[in-house]
This record gives sequence, C-alpha cells and structure tokens, in this order.
Amino acid sequence: MNNSRRRFLQQLTLSALAVPALNAYPFPLSHQSSGLANDKPILKVALMGLGGYAERVAEAMQSCTRAKITGLISGTPEKLKTWGAKYNVAEGSRYNYENFDQIKDNPEIDAVYIITPNALHHSQTLRVAKAGKHVICEKPMAINAQEGQEMVDACAAAGVQLLVGYRMRFEPNTLKAVEMRETGKLGKIKFFQGQTGFKIGDPNQWRVNKELAGGGSLMDIGIYAINGARYMVGEDPIWVTAQETKTDFETFKEGVDETILFQLGFPSGAVASCLSTYSMNHLDRFYLVGNDDFVEMQPSTGYGPIKGRTKNGPLNQPHTVHQTVQMDEMAQIILEGKKPILPVDGKVGLQDLKIIDAIYRSCDTGQRQELQLG
Ligand code: NAD
Repeated sequence: MNNSRRRFLQQLTLSALAVPALNAYPFPLSHQSSGLANDKPILKVALMGLGGYAERVAEAMQSCTRAKITGLISGTPEKLKTWGAKYNVAEGSRYNYENFDQIKDNPEIDAVYIITPNALHHSQTLRVAKAGKHVICEKPMAINAQEGQEMVDACAAAGVQLLVGYRMRFEPNTLKAVEMRETGKLGKIKFFQGQTGFKIGDPNQWRVNKELAGGGSLMDIGIYAINGARYMVGEDPIWVTAQETKTDFETFKEGVDETILFQLGFPSGAVASCLSTYSMNHLDRFYLVGNDDFVEMQPSTGYGPIKGRTKNGPLNQPHTVHQTVQMDEMAQIILEGKKPILPVDGKVGLQDLKIIDAIYRSCDTGQRQELQLG
C-alpha cells in the first residue's frame, strides 16, 4: 500500500469514528454554523486583491471556525474602507500594493491569501514570504513552472507554508470518488475525461490579456481538468499531447488560448482526454472509468452542489461552501501540521504548472512531451 493510500484510509477511519452517519465525509459539519472555535488557534488571514473571487471567499469565511479575516490589501482606498468596515478589519491592518511589506510587523496577520490576476502571484508571493507570512495563493499558482519553482523555494527559505486555492480537493463528492478508487471499488483505472470551460464575456478583462493572465482558458479553467485528472486517476502523468484551435482571433490574441484539447498518459497505462475552452458553456464534467465501475461528476468543479454517480446510483455527499471548508482546513494545515487527504501545497501547484508548460509546448511543436513532475 503506498503512503498516500495508507494516509487516506487512516483519515477515513478517524473520520468514520467522528461522523459515522456521513460515511466518507471527513470534515466536521460545524462549518455550516458560524462562530470561531475559541479553544483552538485561529488563522489570521489578510486578503490581497479585493475582486470577484475575494468577495466570495470573504463571505464564505464568515462561517469559518478556524480562520478569520484580519487584514486587507488593495490598490483602491475606497475598497479598503468599505471592506474594512464590513469585515471589521482595523485601519492599521489595511495596506496597499506599495506598503504591504509592512505586514511583517503586524502580529494580527499570519497568512496572506493572494487573489489577484495570475501574473502577479509570483512577485506577490515572494514579498509575502519575505515578510515572514504564510502564503495561500489562487490557481494557477503562477504563469509558468520557473516562477512556480521560485515561489516554492522562496517560501521554503523563509520558513513559511505555500498553499494553493484548490478548493475541490476538500469537496465531499470528490473525496468520495477518490475513496472509491483508493479502496478498489472501481477496479483498475483505465480512462479519465475532463471537460472544463465556459464562454468568456468582456473581451477587455484581464483573463484574455496575456500580460496578466499568462495564457488563456488553460490557465484559468483547463487547470481544473489537469488537477482533477491527477486526483481522480490517482497518478501523475508521464506524457502529454495537445492541440489548440482558435475561432475568434480578435478576443484571443497571440498567446491567449481559446480552446485546447489535451491527452495525458499515466504510469499504469491509464489515459486521459481533456478539453479546456473559453468559447463553450455547459462544460463542467469529469468521467472516470475503471474495469469494475465508473464515476461521472457533473457539475464537477463549479461552486456546487457537485453531483456524482456510479453505476449503483448517486454519490449523495453533503453540499458544502467550498471556500469555508478550504479555509478551515488550510488553517489546520498551517497551524497544526494537519495532513489533508489530497495535498494542496506549492509542490502540487508547481506540478500543474509543469504540465501547463508542456501542454503549450506540445501545441507549438505538435510533439508529445515527456513529463517529469518530481
Ligand atoms: P477579478 O478581476 O474579479 O479580481 C482581481 C482583483 O485584483 C481586482 O480587485 C483588481 O483590482 C485586483 N488587481 C490588483 N492588481 C491588479 C492589476 N495590476 N491588474 C488588474 N487587477 C488587479 O478576478 P478574480 O475572478 O477575483 O480572480 C482573481 C484570482 O482568483 C485569479 O488568479 C483567478 O484564477 C482566481 N480565481 C479562483 C477561483 C476558484 O474557484 N478557486 C475562482 C475565481 C478566480
């Protein structure tokens, strides 16, 4: 039995003792009720980049029991004021992009959650690490593997943790599917299909600006199929092939991918076929096939409720607010060294970036790319 499988089964046993009625669901349902756990340490988090996703995170964190918002970083003074009042963040813990290095002297901040456009993650992570604070960084962790490696190294050198906002890695239906694979219920895994995409709106947004996004759909939404292929199949790929198609050259300029098809090969012989796109809706589906059963998840990576089924019927795990669970779990990872069932650390983020680099290389060259994820 490999280490991750042993750890998974151990955690499952512990959680089964704690919440027997919930079968595989390994996290306490206290997330549903708000209120901080007074007897346990609380992770004090500064949010950086007060845009759309940060708003969702901030609302979800109101129900956290182990994490709270204690700092804000934004380039817009008005936002610092309104968010500061709304989330009760002291004026002395509100920063802008010029002065946020001063968080190093603020004991009210343990970690910074970076929720800015992709291309900013690298330099911001380096600055947060230098200030001696833990980093939680949104996906994609950076815009290429070289940057990702520098982030991992900088956090290690500073003695701080680096985690990536892979919220699906805490989602109950997802973990049920992973458990079924780990305990052999699906038989030998043969095939994974990951379809991820949506129609992008405003052609002027940063997501289609190479400078800020680092690419196109693959960086933003295709990464869910990459990351998902790894936790659903339970292996890391050893090769990739990829093909790009483009129909709208106005919106999707040079270096900004509209649609990419990619295939992954795994050491066991399992294969994956994935689609990443910014020009189609109704694409949020995972399909995992083993010799004995399948798991279909649709929706598979949206904000939920996530739905999954096997040949025996629905997975039926509880719906959770992903960001609430993620932040409570990350608090325990950072403060207590808790080992999550599926890792969310910088190494995982870096491995995804190595796959992304290889997918782009394969699109450019038409050649299969061998992968060594490390
Ligand atoms: P957004 O455009 O809504 O917000 C981005 C924020 O960054 C804005 O407040 C903007 O003012 C700020 N910003 C700071 N410097 C900037 C600059 N130089 N240029 C432009 N904006 C700048 O975007 P979002 O949807 O909140 O995405 C932010 C990050 O979160 C991205 O990395 C994205 O991939 C990630 N994200 C993750 C999820 C998830 O489910 N995990 C969902 C959405 C977004």
